Order: sequence, then C-alpha cells, then structure tokens
Amino acid sequence: MQDIKMQLDHSKSAVLLERSKKVLAGGVSSEFRKFNHPHALFYDHAEGVYTYDVDGNKYLDFTLSQGPMIVGHSHPHVLKRVQEYSEKGQLFAGQHILEIELAEKLNKYIPSADLMRFCLDGSTAIQTALRVARAKTGRNKFIRFEGHYHGWLDNVSWGLTLDEEKMGTRENPNSLPWTSGIANNIEQEFIVLPWNDLELVAKIMNENYKDIAAIITEPIMCNSGCILPEEGFLKGLREICTKYNSALIFDEVITGFRTGLGGAQKYFNITPDLSVFAKALASGYPISAIVGKKEWMQLIAEGKVIHAGTMNSACALIAAALGTIEVLEEDGTHKRIFALGHRLMNGLRKVAKETGQNLLVQGLGPMFHSGFANVDSIKDFRGIIAYEQPKSKMFIQGMQQRGVRIIGRGLWYISAVHEEEHIDFAIAMAKETLLELK
Ligand code: PLP
Repeated sequence: MQDIKMQLDHSKSAVLLERSKKVLAGGVSSEFRKFNHPHALFYDHAEGVYTYDVDGNKYLDFTLSQGPMIVGHSHPHVLKRVQEYSEKGQLFAGQHILEIELAEKLNKYIPSADLMRFCLDGSTAIQTALRVARAKTGRNKFIRFEGHYHGWLDNVSWGLTLDEEKMGTRENPNSLPWTSGIANNIEQEFIVLPWNDLELVAKIMNENYKDIAAIITEPIMCNSGCILPEEGFLKGLREICTKYNSALIFDEVITGFRTGLGGAQKYFNITPDLSVFAKALASGYPISAIVGKKEWMQLIAEGKVIHAGTMNSACALIAAALGTIEVLEEDGTHKRIFALGHRLMNGLRKVAKETGQNLLVQGLGPMFHSGFANVDSIKDFRGIIAYEQPKSKMFIQGMQQRGVRIIGRGLWYISAVHEEEHIDFAIAMAKETLLELK
C-alpha cells in the first residue's frame, strides 16, 4: 500500500471525459458512474483489491464495482474458467451443459430456488419476477418500499427521491418518480410504502389484497443506508403474503452470495416465493437469475409467462458464475468476509469516537454504510434525511484522495481477498479524513 499516492492527479481522466462526452451521453455508460470524485474517472486495470486509473492512481477498492467483485478483481480462477469455456464457443441459440451445473448449484444453496432462469442483469430479472407474480395471482399491483432500488425500468423508478415536502405522510406516501420519460398511468401498477413498518403493510394489504400480486423487498435495505430489517419484519411479510396468496419477492441483487451462498433468505431463514440474484453471482460478468418455488416458476416452464433473451446464459457468463461460486465455496470464505467487515465497521466507529465525529456506521459486515448523523440508528428511507450529506460527500472525497474508494452514497463492500492490513489501512485513512473534516 506504500505506493498509494496521497495527492492525486486526474488530468488524463479529465481529458478523456471531455472526449467521451462528445460520443457517450454525459460521458458515461451508466448514470451512477458520473458521481466519482472529482468527476467521472477512467480506469485502466484492476487486480485483487486494487483498481488503477489512467493517471496511475491506485485505489484500495471497497466499491467492488458496485458489488459484483466479491472474490476481487481479475480472480485467476474465474478468468481460467471463463477462458476454458469461451474457447469452446460463446453462444449457441441453444443450451449447454454448464447451465445445468450452475442451476444445480443455485438449487442446492438457495432455499427458494426450485426452478430458475438466467437473465443478463438485475433489472430484467426483477421484471420477470413481477410478471410471474401477476400471471399467477391474476392481480396487477405490487407493493414496494421507499428507498429500495429494483433497477432503472419504468415501474420501479419510484420511491427513490427524498423530498420531505412532496413525499406525503408515512401512512399515505406519494410515489415520486426518479426520472422523466416514464409511461403514463404506470403508478397504477404499485403502491410505495415506508419499510420496516409491518403494521402499515398489514393495513394496506388488508385493504387492497385483491389487487396485490406481490410484495417486493430488498431483504436488507442496502441501497439506502444499508438498513437491517427489524426483528420480525421479514417474517411478517412472509405471513402476510401467505395469508393473501401474494408473492413475496426478495430482491437479492446485493445480498445474494454476499450474505452467504444461500443469500439473505438463508441468513434470515425466511423463504420467499421468488427472488432475484445478480451482482456477486459472477465477478462482473452480466448474468442474473430469477429463482423461485416450483408453483410460481412453473408458469415460465409451461410457457404461460414468457421469459427470453438472445444473450442469456452465454458460455462466458455461466463459466464466470461457476468460477465465482467455486471460490466462495472454499472453507470459511464468508466467515472471513463477515469478520473483516466487522473489523472495519468497529474500527470506523472507534476512530469516529476518538475524533469526536458523528459518523454513523450501519449494516451487516459484508456490506455496510457510513454517513454523518446525530442519531443512534436510522430505520427507514425517511430517516436518511438525518444524514449531513455535504459532510458525507467530503468524507468520501477525502478517502478517495487517500487512495480508498467507497461508493458515493456511503456504501462499503468487502471481498474475499481483502486482508486485515487493507482494513486497518482504511481505518487509518478514515481517521486522517475525520481529523481533516474537523
Ligand atoms: N436490485 C438491487 C437491490 C440493486 O442494487 C440493483 C442495482 O444496483 C438492481 C436491482 C438492478 O440491477 P442491475 O443494475 O444489474 O440491472
């Protein structure tokens, strides 16, 4: 880590960004990539826990590319698997044996994965789950929660805007769109509610169940503050969905393979009807899975619900997923990821105390959030208003300036290849940054 520079030069990235803006809208290929510091950066290569930008800056990476790189960048076993299998062909407009091997593994590890289909990303797999739920129940709407991110498509680009004046009351929230260009009347497809409020969900379900095909939730609200479910909340959702014959859908795009090979459903011991896995499944290769109990996924099996995709389950993607899972299967991997995460969370809390800073650290360990707030904990999206956003931004910039990269909204991901020395370096840099913020 000695060669991490403390004063970073981004001049080559700046030139590339200007060139990029002439041909790529906004200079980037995903909206979230605009929000790097001091501007969208261009990366050259990555290995293990480090990414390197075009200006030669080296970063200790806790973004893990927004989560996928759970076994680190360029893991040799994953690359070997991809190369071995790609040499045989890429895509056949037909099946290949490795798909069965991957599906058998998911079936073995994930409690709800009786049957599954592979897709390319979280967003489309989520839409598949909603389609199955609507088809099976004959109902049109789903309940979703404020601050939960389920991709960028029309019917889920809601409930992500924190605007106290426009959000309505907790009991009667307004759905606020996240983007313009959404088709008219799509609000009729869903009800947005605050999370972690079982009583409210029960009330709304009781009044509307004849229209509700599904309740969709991130089992941990990773995308907004990394908030854990309150005791009994997921169990309560399970009971409500069973009572009213609606689907319980877990969006495990982040929690999948990160909280363990069985995902958050195994971790919390709550089995949803349908769930979606993506990010950490395949080390940065675009593959996701919609998995579910037989009685739901049967609709796809019978062709009553159509799921398709030209590029689905291309050889390299399946090989990358198998390679990643094989690394994760090594003894004690998740235990180590949890332990490192706890070490980092506790270390950050300690240096916050030492420096008199109101840094609030919340989450599970394999992923967690840090931000500045004068409260002991934050329990739902509305609570996030308590965060001092400008200070959080300065902290993240200060960390990046010291060669430690975390996600712009304050999320940290731990990989299987981080070591204690990396964690301790990040804690030391956090202390320096916190002192500077004073
Ligand atoms: N669901 C969750 C919980 C996510 O975090 C994301 C992406 O960040 C998605 C769905 C969408 O997945 P993708 O970006 O692969 O389309």
